[in-house]
Amino acid sequence: KPYADNNKSKLGSMHRSALRLQGLINELLDLSKLEFKKISLTASEENIVKVTQDYMQSFESLADQRKIRLGFQAQAAELMVFLDLEKYRKILANLLSNAMKFTEEGGEINVSVSTKSSTIHDRTGEVAIVDGVELRVSDSGIGIASEKLPHIFDRFYQAGDKSRTHQTGTGIGLALTKELVDLHYGNIIVESVQGEGSSFIAFFPGGK
Ligand code: ADP
Repeated sequence: KPYADNNKSKLGSMHRSALRLQGLINELLDLSKLEFKKISLTASEENIVKVTQDYMQSFESLADQRKIRLGFQAQAAELMVFLDLEKYRKILANLLSNAMKFTEEGGEINVSVSTKSSTIHDRTGEVAIVDGVELRVSDSGIGIASEKLPHIFDRFYQAGDKSRTHQTGTGIGLALTKELVDLHYGNIIVESVQGEGSSFIAFFPGGK
């Protein structure tokens, strides 16, 4: 019996490692396909409020476990914008997992969606000011040092202090996130104060 239990927990841990590795491989493949422009956008007009709120439910049990308050605010019940749903969910997943990873127990994560106008590079490469929707993921976590902020979206970049054991990662997530936002002709920025928290702000232009 003790042997059986032991094997079970080893298998469980092997399974989790395999899933994590599979996730990483998929992210690397996505990133390399994006680089060679082999990923295209399959966008449809979506209510970003509902899509975001629905997706956040998959993070509720993790938030409970970590005793983190997960809040959501929307400017209106319905904000329509063209999104590639699968890619939008990857963007959200990356921002939320990072927020979870770098926020201590008892902290807070707030997500909001609201209308905004911003400067983008449109399909023809022209600079344009357009109306659209902003997704904001803010946390009360460890924050990012100001000298590290300019590199945060670079591939394989990790801003953290390596001695913090819970900061396991690869530095791929945000590079992929930025590529996926760019694919929507949007933009993403970060605001952070070390020791106080971080906000990742993604903009998605309105119209087709
Ligand atoms: P990973 O999390 O796998 O290291 P990412 O590309 O997702 O890779 O993030 C790069 C780095 O940016 C992280 O290593 C971390 O130092 C920093 N970072 C990202 N999100 C946050 C956050 N919400 N709070 C503090 N630091 C963050």
